[in-house]
Amino acid sequence: MKSLILEIKGNSLDDGPGIRTVVFFKGCPLNCVWCHNPESKKAVMELSWDKKECIGCLACAKICPENAIDIHNVNFVDRIKCTLCFKCVEVCPSGAMSKVGTEMTVEDILQQLLKDKPFFDISGGGVTLSGGEPLMNISFASELLQQCKNNAIHTLVETSGYFNWNEFETCIAPYCDMVYYDIKLIDEEEHKKYCGVSNEKILSNFKKLVGLSKMSGIKVVPRIPLVPGITAKEQNLTGIAAFLQECGMHNVELLRYNPLWPEKCVKVGNNTIIDKTLTQWMPHEEYERCKRIMSEVNVTMHC
Ligand code: SF4
Ligand code: SF4
Repeated sequence: MKSLILEIKGNSLDDGPGIRTVVFFKGCPLNCVWCHNPESKKAVMELSWDKKECIGCLACAKICPENAIDIHNVNFVDRIKCTLCFKCVEVCPSGAMSKVGTEMTVEDILQQLLKDKPFFDISGGGVTLSGGEPLMNISFASELLQQCKNNAIHTLVETSGYFNWNEFETCIAPYCDMVYYDIKLIDEEEHKKYCGVSNEKILSNFKKLVGLSKMSGIKVVPRIPLVPGITAKEQNLTGIAAFLQECGMHNVELLRYNPLWPEKCVKVGNNTIIDKTLTQWMPHEEYERCKRIMSEVNVTMHC
């Protein structure tokens, strides 16, 4: 069994308790317009071209069998012609061309994680499954989590909440110590507009997860990614605060907005026109405003 992995990143201090190694899965059932990892959205390998790294040698254009690379093309690579043979990656001397996504087995990943086990043990850390959506390939995630637990590694899953509950309860929950659960937009129509799917399943799964956590000891942390003009609106934040209280959950993490994602979109050939407000950092006062709006629940800020 293999899964497409975007990256495995060690020494993370931002993705759960202690020092963690984060496994980023590739593929997500949502399509959030502000996704911080746009290269993780598609569940297929992709070609990335980094203009900043390119030295203009055109070795890639010479080897491309499809004539998909043209210096006069603003996007450099014609994504319609490109068949993802990755011959250009092999010859690129600067690393400007790269393959996004690697097929890995559970054993491949585990071998990497075990190297970091001494750091987990000394710091109270562990492994974090992130993405993309790590539960999109739920049987793979289950096997990986089981192997982690067999090796006494703390496990955390960062999820959009868009999964089949019965599969989660049987295959994930028994091997999961902690869940970071994103709640982005409380209004269903807004959720469809900005995330591409209804939030019905996400909210329903969250309620069930809070219930399960009381019996199983899984620690659940709801999180709201703050996005200017979309999720960071008063009506949305008060709506989510009310929903959390209704579920008996009194803590929430607010995630700071990172506007660097549009550059990543361009690298994988996604040139969607982006609202200017989404390309700027959120001012400090905006975070304070969001915290005040959510003052009925205990708020922590997260980078
Ligand atoms: S991946 Fe293959 S087809 Fe696509 S641009 Fe590179 S060499 Fe051409
Ligand atoms: S081979 Fe690499 S460095 Fe040379 S033009 Fe192509 S992308 Fe740029």
